[in-house]
Amino acid sequence: MTAKAPITQDVLTLPRKDADGDKINLVGLPRAQMREVLIENGTPEKQAKMRVGQIWQWIYQWGKRDFAEMTNLSKAYRSDLEEKFEIRIPEVVSKQVSTDGTRKYLVRINGGHEVEVVYIPEDDRGTLCISSQVGCTLTCSFCHTGTQKLVRNLTPAEIVGQVMMARDDLDEWPVPGTPTDANRRLSNIVLMGMGEPLYNFENVRDAMKIAMDPEGISLSRRRITLSTSGVVPEIARTAEEIGCLLAISFHATTNETRDVLVPINKRWNVDTLLQALADYPKVSNSERITFEYVMLHGVNDSNEDAHRLVSLIKQYKIPAKINLIPFNEWPGSPYTRSSNNRIRAFADIVHDAGYASPIRKTRGDDIMAACGQLKSATERARKSRKQIEAEAGMTKE
Ligand code: SAH
Ligand code: SF4
Repeated sequence: MTAKAPITQDVLTLPRKDADGDKINLVGLPRAQMREVLIENGTPEKQAKMRVGQIWQWIYQWGKRDFAEMTNLSKAYRSDLEEKFEIRIPEVVSKQVSTDGTRKYLVRINGGHEVEVVYIPEDDRGTLCISSQVGCTLTCSFCHTGTQKLVRNLTPAEIVGQVMMARDDLDEWPVPGTPTDANRRLSNIVLMGMGEPLYNFENVRDAMKIAMDPEGISLSRRRITLSTSGVVPEIARTAEEIGCLLAISFHATTNETRDVLVPINKRWNVDTLLQALADYPKVSNSERITFEYVMLHGVNDSNEDAHRLVSLIKQYKIPAKINLIPFNEWPGSPYTRSSNNRIRAFADIVHDAGYASPIRKTRGDDIMAACGQLKSATERARKSRKQIEAEAGMTKE
């Protein structure tokens, strides 16, 4: 088993009970835990498994929040449940819709913290970009979220609750008795919002297990992509315990540059990371690892970088596709975006070497919903511009 990654300070785990009442939230509990709390609260042990199955379906298959609607349970049992439990997901504070149809939600979680969730509709799919932490402890110098200090890890309820919230807004909970898979508007999940998902491993895992559960939201593991900046000890566990697809925030081809852009590189460097990816279980050509590569003018976008990138991936024999992300600027960002011609030239080199090299279309940038622009406007613990520049190694200029 892999060593556990250090969990950073400032992480506050929430008690299961609601702050203003003492009801237990059933959302986010793995089946075994839901069974336990039902038994602890008076459900006869012999019935517990069946009750979990029934309640589970009402919550995750039909999207119900009210015990009164769970009509295959007796009235008396429903009112017992009502007294002790709740079905609670994050609250939508605001919603913005971009001219391209992208929706950005600001949601409030326990303690009044806020995170962002983005829904991106495309012709053949709808992708929900969800957050795993409030802020991020890592300080990638090109990322807006990285300028917000970590407040805390999200709970499983708050993570899967983002998916449930979006299904509410898209009005796509199936009606009991009808096929559950007809015309899904939310067909894919990417863990590419705020936070480093592998620094909140267990909660992300429990939430994604619920999203994949065939008796509930029922998304295939191949429709879930977890993006990490490179928390090496947790990478193998991602395959073993979640089984979703993996994306890596690679962004640089030398340790010197990656140390600045993705400072976790100082702990697990380019070679250590590539070795972990080469060992990622179950990789096949149809389940390639996505290398995310943000295009920063004059920093990591030369032809030489492109050649070095493909030779590294070849050297480690990693089934890969390279997703080129035009840098999205944010107020105070210390970099600028590479020109379209530069991005195209870079993409051509990667493509000619035999790797898919799609250029990510910027979506929702009119509402600051694009990659790396997420950050709750209300947060207070901001880093100063000077600090951002210092971390980006720009103070001397
Ligand atoms: N913490 C995880 C997931 C969230 S970031 C990670 O780093 O992988 C999702 C993706 O957006 C990452 O690849 C990240 O590097 C990229 N990103 C961050 N800031 C960006 C920006 N300003 N412009 C474009 N992409 C950015
Ligand atoms: Fe955190 Fe990912 Fe942003 Fe880095 S790129 S600061 S890991 S959210």
